[in-house]
Amino acid sequence: ALLDTLDIVFLGTIGLGTIAWFTRRQIAEKFFGSKEQDANGKLNGNGHAATAPKRERNFVKVMQEQGRRVIFFYGSQTGTAEDYASRLAKECQQKYGVSCMTADIELYDLQYLDTVPEDCLVFFIMATYGEGEPTDNAVDFWEMLTEEEAQFSESEELNNLRYVIFGLGNKTYEHYNEVARVLDKKLTKLGAKRVGERGEGDDDASLEEDFLAWQDNMWPVFCDALGVDESSASSGPRQATFSVEELEGEDMDQVYLGEIGEKPKDGARIVYDAKRPYNAPITSRDLFHNTDRHCLHIEVDVSDSNLSYQTGDHIAIWPTNNDDEVARLASILGLTDKLDVPVMVKAIDSTASKKHPFPVPATYRSIFRHYLDICAPTSRQTLMSLVEYAPTEETKEALRQLSKDKDAYRLKVGEAVRNLGEVLELVAGAEARPGFFNTVPFDLIVESISRLQPRYYSISSSAKESPKTVAVTAVTLTYNPDPTPERTVYGVNTNYLWQIHAAANKVEDGQTYPKYDLAGPRNTLQGSKVPVHIRRSQFKLPRNPTIPVIMVGPGTGVAPFRGFVRERALQKAEGKPVGPTLLFFGCRNSEQDFLYSEEWPELFETLGEESRIITAFSRETDKKVYVQHRLQENGQEVWKLLQANGSIFVCGDAKNMARDVQQTFINFAIEFGGMTEDKAHDYVKNLRNSGRYQEDVW
Ligand code: FAD
Repeated sequence: ALLDTLDIVFLGTIGLGTIAWFTRRQIAEKFFGSKEQDANGKLNGNGHAATAPKRERNFVKVMQEQGRRVIFFYGSQTGTAEDYASRLAKECQQKYGVSCMTADIELYDLQYLDTVPEDCLVFFIMATYGEGEPTDNAVDFWEMLTEEEAQFSESEELNNLRYVIFGLGNKTYEHYNEVARVLDKKLTKLGAKRVGERGEGDDDASLEEDFLAWQDNMWPVFCDALGVDESSASSGPRQATFSVEELEGEDMDQVYLGEIGEKPKDGARIVYDAKRPYNAPITSRDLFHNTDRHCLHIEVDVSDSNLSYQTGDHIAIWPTNNDDEVARLASILGLTDKLDVPVMVKAIDSTASKKHPFPVPATYRSIFRHYLDICAPTSRQTLMSLVEYAPTEETKEALRQLSKDKDAYRLKVGEAVRNLGEVLELVAGAEARPGFFNTVPFDLIVESISRLQPRYYSISSSAKESPKTVAVTAVTLTYNPDPTPERTVYGVNTNYLWQIHAAANKVEDGQTYPKYDLAGPRNTLQGSKVPVHIRRSQFKLPRNPTIPVIMVGPGTGVAPFRGFVRERALQKAEGKPVGPTLLFFGCRNSEQDFLYSEEWPELFETLGEESRIITAFSRETDKKVYVQHRLQENGQEVWKLLQANGSIFVCGDAKNMARDVQQTFINFAIEFGGMTEDKAHDYVKNLRNSGRYQEDVW
């Protein structure tokens, strides 16, 4: 850890000068020895100590030792970029016969980019997170790349490097694919040559299709660059990425039944983070009235852990898949009778960035219930790879058709949100019966389905008021995606939480829900517990409480603002001067889904007459009224607060609301500030850049 700290201080200091990046590395090596360092004590993205075993950090050395020509770096938050990197690597190896490896960008030292041999290729598969930020695992690389502009701008030290880049972003956000764009620009500036076009995928619309379309053009250029073609590959059946071995006579105490993260070592201080969540007891109540929808206010008790949070942070909750879907998938794959058999799953490639895709050995049941995202819609690529294992000519053809015909795929899988079990049932048609698809090897299932990811929530409590009780405000998600009315899709985590709530509070709402194992692996979640960790966010109240704040948060977008308002009311009650606090809230109906309606009057009374909640109930008037309309009506007052150095906070729906609200502020600058349209756009942009316009949208 000491080495890391010194290294950072040292590098940061000379970063102020003009010494080139690469010279710096040589100096650093001279002072501190080789860059090969013990990864123990290395900080991960959450600022906690990671406990990875000792690893070579020079990826070029690893590539050379292993005879790899291509490396696929991924910057991944929810696992999609990682999946994409694995899929590309697989294609690279199998179709073009080029030896390659995937690499978590956090695990290697990218300062060695200048030593990549000319006949090799480096791929960057990089997601952009939130407001144009890198993913947690790419933070170190990002800092190295962006903080030292002076050195990078004139350096041409990456002349040897050839790279391919694909970005994963979301167009509803202001900084669409910022990470891939900036990285591409920097690498080019440093003299590196991009192979093919930069790919960009839009998670709001068509990420998977963007990725597939980009590959159509990328692979031919890739072949040119490396001097290979499809005939370079050894023909034959698909090569497995994982080996799967069913274990007999295994000591079941050593088998993972759904635990996330390593088992804690005796006596070691446990740091709870994204790699090892804390099983926290929760209590809950339903905030909706007189409607069959539900919104839970959940209080997560972290008092028995060392977890802490700041107002405005996010909490991650790790869901459990429901047993109905576990049973469906197990049945069609012919695994029903084997659900409690332990299996060992290992990466076949010894240089794979992860030796195991999840904690192992684990039972089939726990893999389906806790480790794989079996409820997610199936990808086209998965359908393609299933073709060769379909049990009959009809099912082969049906799968081929679904994977090739984009419209059929969209209709029956994408928009219909059919998970793998459902697609296999659909394809089997009248023949569907247990074990019909027992021809599909389990390693293909592991390879094709992503890891189940935690769901994030904007914390709705104030850390000053309740440092050890973290509040969440979550709407239960159920929807009917296609015209068949009896097919309901249940949001994984929110229905899991609803079942915990219903069991603890003996709630019967007359609806049928899928069943969940609420006791958890080895009863570790018994007593209404859920695995959680905290994620720091940039979404923060101004330090100075006298600064006016304008908050816009319809629906569950109000979550962080409950925390903000409670915090400012507390400061006021403590006798501190607190500036005007305006909250714009919207929902359908004042009687049904007005969140925290009973709490606001007292809080705003404490805050005083310059502060208030302004509501928009969209279904109570003939013409639908939304928060942006109320904002517009109060434009003059809001503009005045902005002139008094006020800050704007927007939370909730990224798609329409955040855009409409931003447009309203642009209109204010035109109407009250007398600006031209261009100037008004710049004005709002500047507010964002100076941290006075913050969004927490999803
Ligand atoms: P999932 O099983 O993950 O299903 C959700 C997916 O279903 C969606 O991504 C979408 O692809 C699909 N979908 C949804 N509706 C439809 C439809 N009608 N038709 C077709 N497909 C559909 N949520 C809150 O309730 N409160 C919060 O405070 C909150 N804060 C968040 C903060 C952040 C930073 C982020 C990233 C998200 C936040 N969310 C919040 C959203 C939350 O993380 C979950 O996405 C949400 O609770 C649903 O999770 P789930 O597992 O129940 O649904």
